[in-house]
Amino acid sequence: MEKRMTCCILALFFLLLCLPSCKASDRQTVEFWGMGTLVSVTLYGPEAACTEGFAQAQALMTELDGLWSLNHPDSDLSRLNRSESGITDADGRTVALVKQAIGLSELTGGAFDITLASLSALWKTCGEEDRLPTDAELSVLLDGVGTAALRAEGTEIGKPVGAAVDLGAIAKGAAAEQLATILRRIDGLSGGLISMGSCVTVFGSKPGGAPFRVSVRDPKNRNGTVGSLTLSDGQVLSVSGDYERFVTIGGKNYHHILDPHTGYPTDSGLSSVAVVASNGAVADALSTAFMVMGEDAAAAFYRAGKADFEAVFIRSDGSVVCTDRIDIK
Ligand code: FAD
Ligand code: MG
Repeated sequence: MEKRMTCCILALFFLLLCLPSCKASDRQTVEFWGMGTLVSVTLYGPEAACTEGFAQAQALMTELDGLWSLNHPDSDLSRLNRSESGITDADGRTVALVKQAIGLSELTGGAFDITLASLSALWKTCGEEDRLPTDAELSVLLDGVGTAALRAEGTEIGKPVGAAVDLGAIAKGAAAEQLATILRRIDGLSGGLISMGSCVTVFGSKPGGAPFRVSVRDPKNRNGTVGSLTLSDGQVLSVSGDYERFVTIGGKNYHHILDPHTGYPTDSGLSSVAVVASNGAVADALSTAFMVMGEDAAAAFYRAGKADFEAVFIRSDGSVVCTDRIDIK
């Protein structure tokens, strides 16, 4: 990919959408909280269809949050993590997502790994206590990292004793895709755009056929945008970065994407990665995985055709490289 990559000099950016928050005769936007982030749904169609769409979207988000949140004690994930070796009554959507996550972990050589929950919790605690984790603390928890011993089939999810699962790096992409799937079935809606902070997707089309352009803003200038790209029907854009979520220890920021080999926040030379894919979970998981793998390994992954996606890599020095078919201007 290196040779075919287009080298763009763009300002460093992170996906944060400049979405219309308005009501027009054929377009309405509703915002609500889900999965710890602001969910914005813009729908095109008559009022009754939009109203129905917003109700269904919020209901589905509440349902998925209830299945996958680590903050809900009765979620499938909380019950799984509390259990000794697994649960036998998981929702089919949880089983399917865990199964897909295991496959993506294998595909990315373990860069994407849903068994980092205990390490993420350790970093959170260390942030509260303003101290770095000790080598002993990291070592104990790193011993339990790895998806090889996870099992997901039917209504069962099995895990090794002590392992804890976190779907935070894949769930929003999956949810965005599922929201688009239910919304496109609603009679009267011609299209729409769903944004969940770091993940955005579109379905159908706008009246008149204008493309869905997603504006991205400069993280160093929250009022400015640095580029935009066209999303086609069903495409999901996911962005992972090292400056949106972090803990501060000794005055230094430690971001939330962890290298499963070291237990430390990634330091691969990339500051942010944007991935566009038609599968939401794949887009979300790969944007996280490439932060761990770094540009060269991600380029090799792309060249090998291991998944169907396009990507933008933002290096720590602010320069940007793109895969062959990404449309960002
Ligand atoms: P991504 O790069 O997509 O994911 C990073 C997150 O994945 C990390 O925060 C960590 O949890 C995990 N992770 C770290 N390294 C790796 C790795 N190498 N491989 C795989 N995973 C890794 N936050 C709140 O503050 N309040 C809430 O109520 C809340 N509820 C949530 C409910 C659900 C169902 C989910 C999925 C998340 C929730 N969150 C909540 C978490 C918050 O939204 C996460 O910070 C978010 O999922 C991270 O997404 P991202 O796109 O920023 O980063
Ligand atoms: Mg992700």
